[in-house]
Amino acid sequence: MPATMKKVDVLISEVGLRDGLQSIQPIMPTASKRAWIAAQYAAGCREMEVGSFVPPGLLPQLADTAEIVRYATGLEGLCVAALAPNLRGLRDAAANGAHKVTLPFSMSESHSLKNLNRTHSQVIEEIRACVEFLRSLPTRQRPQFEVSLSTAFGCTLEGPVPENRVLSLAEQVVELGVDEVSLSDTTGYGNPQQLKRLVLGIRQNCGREKLCGVHLHNTRGQGLANALMAVELGITTLDSSLGGIGGCPFAPGASGNIVTEDLVFMLESMGLSTGIDLAALIEVRELVSAALPEVELFGFTPDAGLPIGYRAA
Ligand code: ZN
Repeated sequence: MPATMKKVDVLISEVGLRDGLQSIQPIMPTASKRAWIAAQYAAGCREMEVGSFVPPGLLPQLADTAEIVRYATGLEGLCVAALAPNLRGLRDAAANGAHKVTLPFSMSESHSLKNLNRTHSQVIEEIRACVEFLRSLPTRQRPQFEVSLSTAFGCTLEGPVPENRVLSLAEQVVELGVDEVSLSDTTGYGNPQQLKRLVLGIRQNCGREKLCGVHLHNTRGQGLANALMAVELGITTLDSSLGGIGGCPFAPGASGNIVTEDLVFMLESMGLSTGIDLAALIEVRELVSAALPEVELFGFTPDAGLPIGYRAA
């Protein structure tokens, strides 16, 4: 966490620039990405996942990730996060100054083979190599390293993912020396009780400080219910995306990640500070819509407007 970061009750990590943009066909111009980051930073957002260090041919939407990371690190107090699927991506992320790097580890082995072309034991070896590389860096150049336990709530290929498998893989990863693991409902299969069992189980096996964040999708409308459960359990970092951008190719009309605007409304009206000015955040949508006119943005709060007498935490 950059030293200048303001203390908030819940840190919202904006992932629209990575998870959202990688899920849509149109490519947002680099200048528009910069403008989006600057506007959302001005609205008070202090963590953003701005891209993914994968070969540009694989995800042309994120081909400018290195440039975007370097730009974002110029904003004081912003924690700049990026995804990296392997050691090569992690090296690039560190070289470009990312503060936080997340490596996705699919709890479903079929999903892992399909997306990363790697078995579970191969991913674990990759994570081991990543930890060794990070230890070789001077502390100041060492990004925080998180492994995201993706498809932890269910998989579109395998169906249910056994919870004891998630707990056991989380434990193995923590033993390798990663800074944190996070729980990811990649497919939007999750429900609040399942989230509670997974959070409590991982804390028991790995230690409370090793699990601070969750990554939720709203595919079946459970996103905010799951987010509320996470907050009640003391989870302090929630991923979300502006306008729920990205959607779900299998569920027309469903947003992608949980919608940042609705999440900020829920938390702030509950008295939990996020540091984000909701009215300013809603205005950021116009900029995104102008850059991507054919892309649908979701969110109830922006459509309905702020209630009379709304007061931030
Ligand atoms: Zn996601």
